[in-house]
Amino acid sequence: MSLFSKIKILCLVIVSFSAISETQINLQLRWLHQFQFAGYYMAIEKGFYQAQELTVNLIEGGNGLSPVEQLIQGKADFAVSGSGIVIERAAQKPVVALAAISQTSPLVWITLQKNNLTQPHDLINKKIAIINLVESAELLATFKKEGISLTNIAEFKTQQTIDDLITGKVDAYNGYSSNEPFLLKEKSIAYSLIYPSQYGVNFYNDILITSENLAKSSPELVEKFTQASLAGWEYAFNNIEETVQLIHTKYAQGKSIAHLNFEAQKLKELAMPDFVTIGHMNPGRWQQIAQTYTELGMIEQADISGLMYHSTQPDLSWLIPITIFTLLIILILSLISWRFAYLTGALKKEIKRRTYAENNLIKLNKQLKTQATSDPLTQIFNRRAFFEKGDALLNLAKRKGLNLSLFVIDLDHFKHINDNYGHKTGDLALKTVCNQIKETAIREYDIFARIGGEEFAIIALDCNLPQAEHLAERILQCLRDIQLSSENGGFIKLTASIGISSLTQSISDSLSQADCALYQAKANGRDQYFVFNTVSDEIKSSSEQTTYKNLFPVNESLPFHE
Ligand code: GH3
Ligand code: MG
Ligand code: MG
Repeated sequence: MSLFSKIKILCLVIVSFSAISETQINLQLRWLHQFQFAGYYMAIEKGFYQAQELTVNLIEGGNGLSPVEQLIQGKADFAVSGSGIVIERAAQKPVVALAAISQTSPLVWITLQKNNLTQPHDLINKKIAIINLVESAELLATFKKEGISLTNIAEFKTQQTIDDLITGKVDAYNGYSSNEPFLLKEKSIAYSLIYPSQYGVNFYNDILITSENLAKSSPELVEKFTQASLAGWEYAFNNIEETVQLIHTKYAQGKSIAHLNFEAQKLKELAMPDFVTIGHMNPGRWQQIAQTYTELGMIEQADISGLMYHSTQPDLSWLIPITIFTLLIILILSLISWRFAYLTGALKKEIKRRTYAENNLIKLNKQLKTQATSDPLTQIFNRRAFFEKGDALLNLAKRKGLNLSLFVIDLDHFKHINDNYGHKTGDLALKTVCNQIKETAIREYDIFARIGGEEFAIIALDCNLPQAEHLAERILQCLRDIQLSSENGGFIKLTASIGISSLTQSISDSLSQADCALYQAKANGRDQYFVFNTVSDEIKSSSEQTTYKNLFPVNESLPFHE
């Protein structure tokens, strides 16, 4: 039994203690006492009716008694009937269906195997036992489904005993698959069953009904009785042994325990409590049942309006699947977002790690590039970079039609400085010279490099030879002005010699020419410049003023820029 059922039963029992006055209810059964009505016995026994302030009196059926008639005549408040109530309803009988206990009907034709009657056609012109049109409607519908007219069947009002079949009074008996087969088996009589469901007739059965009148006047009572009855059914199906024992002791002493157990198992299969809420009814299924009766000519119109009782209490059962579905969606979305957050976090970490590594790589590459192109002592371009950058500047100057002048600057008697003041002072002198030249003579687009130990080179852009000479003179003067202090308190004198060439073809050619000019400057006595290709060997100096202009558009990328 489910926890929900247990709570429901407990509530019903608790409420029963507070019951003061009880309403008397008559319930008309459809047949003799047997497991077919187990739920109602257990609702009495377990106090479920009492909890609803109801006292229920059970009226046994059989003997051709019509439960519907009993209801209409006011002899019963509730009754158990078959799907034939659709026919009653079509005949304007004011009955309403409250709950269908059997989702599939146990009604069958039972024949003796020795007579070899195994299908509806075999029963043509045979005697068949029926109770009445309503109670045996499904079985009669089987003939119609098979195209057999009921005039071809000899009806026999049964005495409601299987003996009618055994003694040959009837050829086919209107029975329950859950009941009579047990008796025949006990007597070792071989039998055959003709199931209506095999011929397209599959109806609800053992339906709890009430009068339209009661349903309208006392909906609360109808609700209470129905719920207590269904609780009884739930208890009965969950406690078959206890229920069988009670029925055997209290209601049907004539039926053996084994017989009742057989019936219980068969009826539980047909009620399907594990799959369907006990008592469940579907309007579509009722419509289908009514349609079958219409097709068979048993009613005129398949109209089931008013047949099913509609609870006045709001049915919130539809909320359960929606709630479960919503919770499931929330759970799935939570899992997805958790996973997403986890992946995003991992991704962020990975991006951070990679960005860090990438930045390090860029830094390292930059360092390597700087190391490869710059001189470690003075931080200006080295000889290799001088050639690379020089080539690019040469191409640019050619394109723009600008002059280039190349200078080689060699410090005079530098060996003496090292020898007299030490290598450290020599290094300092080299750095000082470099800074002075940079400040005095180097413009944004010029290239300045250390191409040897105490040897520097300049490629000056937009600089013709007269301008170059003027620039050389300024360089010579700025070096003469350097005041590098010596250890003995005096100043170290620095001068340089400069060779100049005009750069037109290649860096190496122009460098060689400038070297020649430098050699000449040294030979001429140092601290002076010499211009290659000049006819005269005297030192040239130009009075022409060099003007520095920005000759390039601002956005033009220049090849020698880092
Ligand atoms: P000249 O006027 O004929 O050029 O005479 P010089 O002494 O400058 O020429 P030389 O080529 O004989 O000597 C160059 C000297 O430069 C030799 C070397 O000790 C020095 N030198 C070269 N590179 C460095 C350096 O990186 N640091 C220092 N301190 N001295 C250097
Ligand atoms: Mg030298
Ligand atoms: Mg030198």
